[in-house]
Amino acid sequence: RSAVTASGASADSDPAGIVLGGDLTIPLLGGDVVSYANLDYAASAPALTEVANFLNDISPYYASVHRGAGYLSQVSTSVYESARLAVSAFVNARDGDSVIFTANTTDSLNLLAGVVASGVADTGGGLRRDVVYLDIEHHANLLPWQAIDHRVVSVRNTLRETIDELDVELAGAPAALLAVTGASNVTGEVLPLRELAELAHRHGARIAVDAAQLAPHRRIDVAGDNIDYLVFSGHKLYAPFGSGVVVGRADWLDAGKPHRAGGGAVREVQANSVSWTTGPARHEAGSPNVLGAAAIAKACKVLQNLDQDDWHEHEEHLRRRLVDGVADIDGVETHRIWAEESLDAVGIVTFSVRGYDPGLVAAYLSAEHGVGVRDGRFCAHPLTKALGLDRGGCRASFGLGSTEDDVDRLLEGLRALLDGGP
Ligand code: PLP
Repeated sequence: RSAVTASGASADSDPAGIVLGGDLTIPLLGGDVVSYANLDYAASAPALTEVANFLNDISPYYASVHRGAGYLSQVSTSVYESARLAVSAFVNARDGDSVIFTANTTDSLNLLAGVVASGVADTGGGLRRDVVYLDIEHHANLLPWQAIDHRVVSVRNTLRETIDELDVELAGAPAALLAVTGASNVTGEVLPLRELAELAHRHGARIAVDAAQLAPHRRIDVAGDNIDYLVFSGHKLYAPFGSGVVVGRADWLDAGKPHRAGGGAVREVQANSVSWTTGPARHEAGSPNVLGAAAIAKACKVLQNLDQDDWHEHEEHLRRRLVDGVADIDGVETHRIWAEESLDAVGIVTFSVRGYDPGLVAAYLSAEHGVGVRDGRFCAHPLTKALGLDRGGCRASFGLGSTEDDVDRLLEGLRALLDGGP
């Protein structure tokens, strides 16, 4: 298998050892054993070898952080705190930005919603608690806002028209926050973050970016693009489950409602009252996930060393191969949100097969071809409805370990299905 590496060389010759752990083989329905074509990176990406090795190396030595003077506690504290620096460097955060560890993107966005709802957003024109978002979002970037003051802007035919609508909405009434995805988890389309940040700021709002699907595919520039808050998950970034981050401006985070109540988040506690601390600890009550933070930090470091052009080209080549291949198969359709042909997209392609239930297509591809895709409505019901996928679709998504062979086997499977599969 070939995969992108730091040097752009093939996986087998990669000296940095950053490729994904070994090939997985699985049995097909007929009994043949084939290598597994994992086209589901957007759901969760397998851990990088470097990440797995690092966790292995440090796991005998961890202890609870911050509160112990013992050697292991000091080591763990140092691993945990330096993990913030690696995350911060990976996304080019500003000096003074907070890096808070959470459980995942969903947790991060719930944290931000709690902070905004607690009334911290006063940028001169009075206190604001409103959040504006588009109806293309993953539920993680929609339901936490639904629970507080919010306004929704409906997606338009073109990205340009959609941005104009956001402009009108934010001009019409002030908002605390514009919440947008960095890349759609359904179509992979990438949003122009610098422009959206500028738009939000022009109207006195801040911007929060759900980078769950962007961070595993593109270098993000928080300082350069003027992004106020950025969130993502470790398990989509080649680290194991259980860790996520919020990166962003410390003022609201230091003043807002603590994400959880408990030990470690406090300055002083009386039996009936508390004064909360500031800094990341305010939102990290309880024994933190030290290994999760270490894993995310390691993945950030590895990805930061990738050649950006190789990384991009590898996935774009596979995305194009799939989109072009599907265009030649009568009965299979791919889906995009916006009409502009030239929009950048990460390695995510959602498709449907005429006359077939998406669940059946995905089950057939897995059982007969050893190809793993996701089916359903991708936790984005408003968007899948807008795309006419009321019963859902199938999604293929790529990452560092994906190969042309994975794409070709998917195309072969689709042809076979339409040629008289089940
Ligand atoms: N946002 C986007 C765009 C996603 O694709 C996902 C997961 O698929 C999430 C948020 C939620 O991520 P998590 O399940 O890690 O909280």
